This record gives sequence, structure tokens and C-alpha cells, in this order.
Amino acid sequence: QMTSTSTVLKRLLESSAQFPIKLHNFIDNEFENTKEKMESVNPATGELFFYLNRSGKQEADRAVAAAKRAFHSWSQTSPQYRSSILLKTAQIIEDNLDDMALLESRDQGKPVWLAKAVDIPRCIHNLRFFANSILHHTDPSILHHSPSPGLSYVVRDPVGVAVLISPWNLPIYLLSFKIAPAIATGNTVVCKPSELTSATAYVLMHALFEAGLPKGVVNMVLGTGAEVGEHLVTNPDVGLVSFTGSTAVGKKIGALAALSNKKTSLEMGGKNACIVCPSADLPTVIPDIVRSCFINQGEVCLCTSRLFVHHSVIDRFLSLFLDEAEKYTVGDPESGSKLGAINSKIHFDKVMSYIKIAQEEGGKIELGGRSVQPEGRCTGGYFIQPTLITGLTDSSRCMQEEIFGPVVCLVPFGSNEEVISRANSTSYGLSATVFSENVNEIHSIARSLRVGTVWCNTWMLRDLNMPFGGTKESGMGREGGEDSLHFFTEQKTICIKIN
Ligand code: NAD
Repeated sequence: QMTSTSTVLKRLLESSAQFPIKLHNFIDNEFENTKEKMESVNPATGELFFYLNRSGKQEADRAVAAAKRAFHSWSQTSPQYRSSILLKTAQIIEDNLDDMALLESRDQGKPVWLAKAVDIPRCIHNLRFFANSILHHTDPSILHHSPSPGLSYVVRDPVGVAVLISPWNLPIYLLSFKIAPAIATGNTVVCKPSELTSATAYVLMHALFEAGLPKGVVNMVLGTGAEVGEHLVTNPDVGLVSFTGSTAVGKKIGALAALSNKKTSLEMGGKNACIVCPSADLPTVIPDIVRSCFINQGEVCLCTSRLFVHHSVIDRFLSLFLDEAEKYTVGDPESGSKLGAINSKIHFDKVMSYIKIAQEEGGKIELGGRSVQPEGRCTGGYFIQPTLITGLTDSSRCMQEEIFGPVVCLVPFGSNEEVISRANSTSYGLSATVFSENVNEIHSIARSLRVGTVWCNTWMLRDLNMPFGGTKESGMGREGGEDSLHFFTEQKTICIKIN
């Protein structure tokens, strides 16, 4: 029995602590209940929002089996057909953009305006981008003459059953970036969204179903990483694992997947540096810099967490930064505030503990540093002021460890050589930003940074054609455009002798 995506959204938005609904697994185009359940809290109020299935090995295995059964026929379908289903899904999400944004906000804590401007449009773009790009690839072929004449050509086979595991900070934005290329290239999928943010993924399952996706092509199991995620990763019928989340979990998944030689892509944590050179046009670039520190409550893997500013401009920088940061109001995500709630109580405690550690390590709080308790319906929510800390050494915990909240450390530097070496001195290597009006300086710094992406005089300007991923402990492999196509397929060379 099909319930339309818009009806499901309406029901979810009515869910509350008094009348909570329960989200189910999606296996073989059926929504299935489990005996066990877990709670999902609205971080802006601290109250129960809905229940979700608490799945285990049995559900993981059933979902993989469904994906395996569906694989052969799905892999034989034409790219045009797969593309059309992705395009219909994108349209359904777009038709429900406002409700999707409100749901993402209530589940994640981010402001509604941000979900409306970024998360949901990006989900739609991910679906359309891969729906279109799958139609525009040509593979190499060669006519050779020695040692004897022959024709070699390449075909790309989908890998098989793909397990897609995603985090809580950009729930549908990141999951759709995996589902779209995986099914566009003919794989079948089992996805596991974060147990903290499963709501928009649940809606996406309805949208795929409504768009006519055959059964078993996309399945979803809900629950914790330890109880269900790990069983997906170790299932012998799974050929590929795409993971986005923390470095600790990513390393574990990498090790488990290696035991059965699965293809693996790991997108993990970051400790991203922003380098501000003396020539930077400060009044123009400050809004981007502050945004890079605090947007989405600092819960973006690409957020700036270490600010290296040339000592000759650091006073002016600090004063402009503090002025701009005044715009970063914190409060009810549905009220138009610039920043919303931290995703969970556990994460709130973690971020607050780092602010304390920074003070113990000799840091000075120049901005923020406290939790916020809005009046009214959000009194029980998890809110933290945007926070700027100075006076820390490069080896301090706050300069080395990922905090993943609205907390940034500011330190001065003297020369480009020095700042390159200091920016590279962490175990992470996800992204960095460089601000300078000197084009040679930009190129020389950007080329010396050991990260996956360097933004110059901007931040988060991203074309999906470009490779995305991290170096060192920030990741393994790249996704996006051609790279997703490579990751989600196996190239096969076919050679025919010509007489
Ligand atoms: P997390 O690693 O705790 O969880 C991510 C996902 O993995 C969740 O779905 C979780 O249930 C699952 N999981 C946990 N343990 C597992 C296990 N043993 N086996 C299988 N699955 C398991 O990460 P999080 O706290 O949800 O997200 C925040 C982290 O994600 C931050 O470190 C952030 O930097 C990172 N992140 C990275 C990128 C990137 O593109 N590099 C993007 C967004 C977030």
C-alpha cells in the first residue's frame, strides 16, 4: 500500500513526544517494523520526536539479501531508465522542499532557513547530477595492430550490493550523494543513516518508491552502528562500502571491509586550517571566514577550526571577525536565528568539554564560550554560542583534535613557510582555505597543503564534478563526478582478435 511522500512528511511533522510515530526499515519495497525501538530527540527542545527501528544482524542480512536478489535485473536496466527514476525522485523531493527542510531541521537541530537553502536543494542536485552524468560517459577503446590486430574496449560493471553509511551532520545531503551514483551505475543498495538523524532518509525511501524504483534496489535499515552497521560491513554478499563519519569509526570499518576485500571509500574527520595572508582583502572575505567557522553550528566536516592569521593583520582581523560574528544569533531553529541546536546532548557535552579544556590549556575566550538557554519551547535544547579562542599552542588538544562544533582557535604566524608546516601538523587532511590577493602566494600555499580540497578566497564552493575526499586520517578514496563513477563500478577490458 503506497502512501505518498507528502503524506508521510505531514505525518512525520505531526510526530511529538505525546504522539510519537515510529520509523521502519525499508526492505524489498516494504516498510517493516522491528520489535525493538530507539528514541530520536528534537535537539532544539530536548524532547522525544519519534521512535525508530532498532535493527540487528537479522535485519541487516535480510536487507543485503533483498539487494542481492534485485542486483541482476537492476544492473541490466538502461542508464536512461535509471536516470528517469532518479529524476522523478528529485522532482518529488523538490515538490516537498519546505516540509523536507522543516523535518531536517527538527531532526538535526539546524535552522530551517539553512536546510531550505542548502541541505534539501543539495539532495535534489545530487539526484539530478548523477541522473544526468550517467548519460554522458564514454569509455576508452583501442584498435591495436601488434602483436596481432585486435580491438580492446572497456565496459564498466556495477560492483554489486553497496552499503552506504552516513553521519548526522548533513543527513540527506550526504546520503543522497551516495545513493544517487550507486544506483545510477547499476548497483543495489543497503543504506544506514545515522541513528540520530533518520527522518529525511525515511522520506527519501518513500520518494524512491513513489518514483517507481523496483523492489530491493534501495533498502534501508535503521539502528546503531555497532548493532546493525557492522553487520552490513562484514556481510560477505556486500561488494562495496561507502562511509562518511568519524575517523575512529572509519578506520574500524576500513579494517573490517579489508578482511573480505570490499571496495571502500572513507570520508572522515577534519581539523581544517584557514590561512589569512597580509594581502587578504579582509572586509570582503571576513563573512566567508566566519561562515566557515560557525555555519551549521560548526558541524560540517569542512568547517574551519584553526585560524592562522599573519601577525601584521591579526588585530584588525580579530576586530572585523568579532563584528561579523555578532550576526550569528543562536536560538530556535524555526525562528530565523542564524545558528540552531547542537545535534545531541552527548555532542553538546563534548563541545562544551573542549571549551573547558581550552581554558585549562591557557586559551583566552575572545567570543562566546557558553551554552545558551533560549526562552520558550527551546529551553530544554542544546545550544552553544559561537566561540573564538586565542593563546593556544599548536600542540594543544583544541588545535589538534576535531571538536565539530562552533569553536575555532586563532593563532598568529610569521612566514608562509612556517604556516604551511604548522597547517600540515595534524593527523587530519580534509580541507583548508587560503585568503590572499597575491596569486603566486595562493598557488604556492595551496600546492603545499596536504589536504583533499583547498578553497582560495572562498569556502564550500563546490562543483560535483570535482573529486572530494581527504588525505591522512581524513579519508581514503575520492567521490564526486568521475570518481564516483570509478568507485561504484569495476572496469573490465574486453579484447577481440581481428583477423
Ligand atoms: P560516526 O562515525 O559516529 O557515525 C557515522 C555513521 O557510522 C553512523 O551512521 C553510525 O551509526 C555508523 N557507525 C558507527 N559505528 C559503526 C560501526 N562500528 N560499524 C558500522 N557503522 C558504524 O560519525 P558521526 O558522529 O555521525 O558524524 C560526525 C563525524 O563525521 C565527524 O567526525 C565529521 O568530521 C565526519 N564527517 C566527515 C565528512 C567528510 O566528508 N569527510 C562529512 C561529514 C561528516
